[in-house]
Amino acid sequence: MVSELMEQQGRWDQRLVRSCFLGDESEVILSIPLSINPREDAYLWHFDKKGKFSVKSAYKVALADQLSDQASCSYGPLAWWKKLWSLELPSKIRFFCWKANKVILPTKLLLCKKGLVVSDLCPFCGDEPESVDHALWRCKRVVPHWGTWSLFPDINKLRGGCFIDRVLWLSSMGNKDVLLHFLVTAWMLWFRRNRLVHGGTVPVNDSCWDRAGEMLKLFENSGKPAPSLQTVETV
Ligand SMILES: [Zn+2]
Repeated sequence: MVSELMEQQGRWDQRLVRSCFLGDESEVILSIPLSINPREDAYLWHFDKKGKFSVKSAYKVALADQLSDQASCSYGPLAWWKKLWSLELPSKIRFFCWKANKVILPTKLLLCKKGLVVSDLCPFCGDEPESVDHALWRCKRVVPHWGTWSLFPDINKLRGGCFIDRVLWLSSMGNKDVLLHFLVTAWMLWFRRNRLVHGGTVPVNDSCWDRAGEMLKLFENSGKPAPSLQTVETV
């Protein structure tokens, strides 16, 4: 029962949620505002305005998903995303990449569209709506973290492109190490963003790009399976 995850009406039991769900998932759950008026739990179909499931709406979702995979890019996004699952990355980072590509990371823009928050503006700079691209690439908060990367000026020319455009561009270069470095850095930026949004702290003057490189070296040298998400951030 969802109600078992609440301390009292209108408040999540943060410790319980974090102990029951993976880090990223628990942040999503905790970002959902709770009503102070008691209501029975109910199943709602996320893709319908009224929350009602129908075969017709499920067909539309499946079709849209298929078309987005076939869309625009000549590097073959569907094939690449299949390959993503074979990369030597913690499963949580792979899951993050998948969500970033599907634009379902719980950014302020997405939460606002769903009516869960009032403002869609970036909580850090306030300059524009917090889209996936803004949160991971364009925000003043994250730009310095990419600043030490030699390919930054080139990949920045894809400005306006989405996460998958950058991933596919890197993938087309055929350098798996650079691609892994990009994905781990993007995940770390999102992980730290969630910490800050929920009142936590993150290391100061600590470049995510540099930190991601150190972690990848550790993975490589240890020859061990990639560590869990929590371990990754504290290495
Ligand atoms: Zn921002």
